[in-house]
Amino acid sequence: MSVKTIKYKFKKKNTIGKKEIQSSIKVLKTGDLSGFMASRNHGFLGGPQVRKFEKKLEKFYNVKYAISVNSWTSGLITIIGSLDVEPGDEIIVTPWTMCATVTAILHWNCIPIFADINYEDYCIDPEIIKKKITNRTKAIIAVDIFGYPAQIDKIRSIIRGKNIKIISDNAQAPYAFYKNKISGTNSDIGGFSFNYHKHINTGEGGAIITNSKQLAQRSRLIRNHGEAAVLNNKKLLNNILGYNFRLGEIEAAIGIEQYKKLKKIISTRQKLCRKLTIGLSKLDGLVLPKESPQRTHNYYIYPITLSEKVLNKFSRSTIIKHLEMDGVQGLIAGYENVHKFPMIEHKIAYGTKGFPWNISKKNSKKSKIICKNAEKLHKKSFLGIEVCLYELSNKDIELIIRAFYKIWKKLGL
Ligand SMILES: *Cc1c(COP(=O)(O)O)cnc(C)c1O
Repeated sequence: MSVKTIKYKFKKKNTIGKKEIQSSIKVLKTGDLSGFMASRNHGFLGGPQVRKFEKKLEKFYNVKYAISVNSWTSGLITIIGSLDVEPGDEIIVTPWTMCATVTAILHWNCIPIFADINYEDYCIDPEIIKKKITNRTKAIIAVDIFGYPAQIDKIRSIIRGKNIKIISDNAQAPYAFYKNKISGTNSDIGGFSFNYHKHINTGEGGAIITNSKQLAQRSRLIRNHGEAAVLNNKKLLNNILGYNFRLGEIEAAIGIEQYKKLKKIISTRQKLCRKLTIGLSKLDGLVLPKESPQRTHNYYIYPITLSEKVLNKFSRSTIIKHLEMDGVQGLIAGYENVHKFPMIEHKIAYGTKGFPWNISKKNSKKSKIICKNAEKLHKKSFLGIEVCLYELSNKDIELIIRAFYKIWKKLGL
């Protein structure tokens, strides 16, 4: 038996420090843990920390409006509602995402239409979107999966002249650049998650960003019960179904501190992952993340595809087993195929009759939803390293590289 390359546990990530603790205590001492009121008075936009946090986000992303929410799932539900959708409207979405991107569509009785990902970036494929557009298409949700920006410009050119909105789910990419813009600021409306697993966190939380006044107004109403619409504007009154998606003051205060650290957290992660790419690039049979100044990666997950050359000799599970035996941590085989979730496959979200798919004849057909690339990557060739879980060091990266070399040599790859 040879000696294990990595004999210790990687350090667990923790972005919460002194500043977050101090600012939380400060809020606690005021006794006002939320400043929200549903009616259109002073409290409609929340307490001082929430408003300060939103101002900070508007400045950071250089957008007109930031709307904090108590999770990004809440944010996605809010965004779909802000678009003024009709039941049965279609929203095109990627199969490779966290399920909330898709369930948010169903919450408004709209139909998710899946467009496959491509092998290049694991994001929704603009060419496939083209084939999915119908006269019921209301929006497209592009997800910056694993932290790599989706190609919003290509999607925009496809929908030119059509009344279709682009939503971006930037939960895994809070500070990624796409052609000189921060991803999320190049769509009609986008946003971020601040849950515990993301680059920065407030425990639970999220934020919507947009430059559209109308979408921002509707989002603020949906976030906060929608009651205020009654008082002010008859036009808005008719179709605002509100929730309580309000962020607390402590979370907002923590968010303000977390944003001061974000650029550093991202650049550190980038340095480490770029080192990993350079190290692994000399090995045969690995497709590694691409990056350029025009399209930067946030590495929520470090993505790898095993080539046919490797897979002809060994299965992914054999390779993972060997890497794990050598001490490599955070390996995942495949990713979520949301179109394969039972609720989606069987086209039934409520009750027993196939709602909301049964709103339209075409969509209620029990035809199989197929996303070939996503399925193949999930089943056979995709391998990820959950770098989001750890505070990795240069040494950790060097040892991960060493473990890959050792296994490649051992297996004769
Ligand atoms: C984390 C995540 C969400 C959900 O965010 P929450 O804040 O946990 O509700 C949605 N989409 C993607 C791509 C995510 O990674």
